[in-house]
Amino acid sequence: MNILQTPFHATRPAGQCTLVGAGPGDPELLTLKALKAIQAATVLLVDDLVSDEIVALASPGVRIVHVGKRGGCQSTPQAFIEKLILAAVREGDHVVRLKGGDPFVFGRGGEEVEHLQAAGVTVSVVNGITAGLAAVTSLGVPLTHREHAHGVVFVTGHAHPGGQETDWAALASTAHSARLTLVIYMGVHHAAQIEQALLQGLPASTPVALIQNASLPSQRHALCTLSNMNQTLKRERLASPSVMVVGNVLQGLLALQTTDLPQVACHGI
Ligand code: SAH
Repeated sequence: MNILQTPFHATRPAGQCTLVGAGPGDPELLTLKALKAIQAATVLLVDDLVSDEIVALASPGVRIVHVGKRGGCQSTPQAFIEKLILAAVREGDHVVRLKGGDPFVFGRGGEEVEHLQAAGVTVSVVNGITAGLAAVTSLGVPLTHREHAHGVVFVTGHAHPGGQETDWAALASTAHSARLTLVIYMGVHHAAQIEQALLQGLPASTPVALIQNASLPSQRHALCTLSNMNQTLKRERLASPSVMVVGNVLQGLLALQTTDLPQVACHGI
């Protein structure tokens, strides 16, 4: 049934909406709260980057709506997703909006909550493990380290259309002086420009890890330095979803990489 056409029954209690972080893909990285919310859902709105194994954890009879760009199609417009949520909540449904990683790290979770709250819906949010964290951990490397990195910056490589561009050169200088690890999301399409701009503030020899499909059996990664980040990405055909991690926390791992080892390692095989 089309939930937008469902008649409104004044007698039914209002439903609820929970934004749930599905983590980077591996179902075992879900939080218990996320699992409970998924199992309690009567309507599940699923983003692109959420793995099928996680969707399979939902209860029988749940209405599942995929709202991502699967199969190369256009993603469902944000306003339509919010209308779906509103209609289902008014019907008394427990709507779970399942988003990749953490709902409040990129992925427009903040905007969604603002719009739903403005429409009178109470929204709760369940954290997920963000992709950048899982990606670096899968290489056995920490995001911070007393000797190499005093902090971490999660930054998008894809600014909001019409929005202000990230000042990469300024970010690079700060990362260098304050010893910060940079974790760049949605950056693969702009890797060449990002590399050039980061080189204005960080040494060419700064270690970089490029990690695709973190936490999934299809995970691949490549290690390189900042001056050949884009070249490595293209050569190894690393594509979205990938994170690019830049910083001296990767020094030890890069040093281990000898010319005898393959450039691209596979995870979970
Ligand atoms: N909310 C999500 C991020 C959404 S933005 C989170 O917290 O992880 C989408 C971007 O996240 C992708 O372009 C990619 O940069 C990154 N991403 C998501 N899942 C990933 C994965 N399994 N491996 C590597 N990068 C991933």
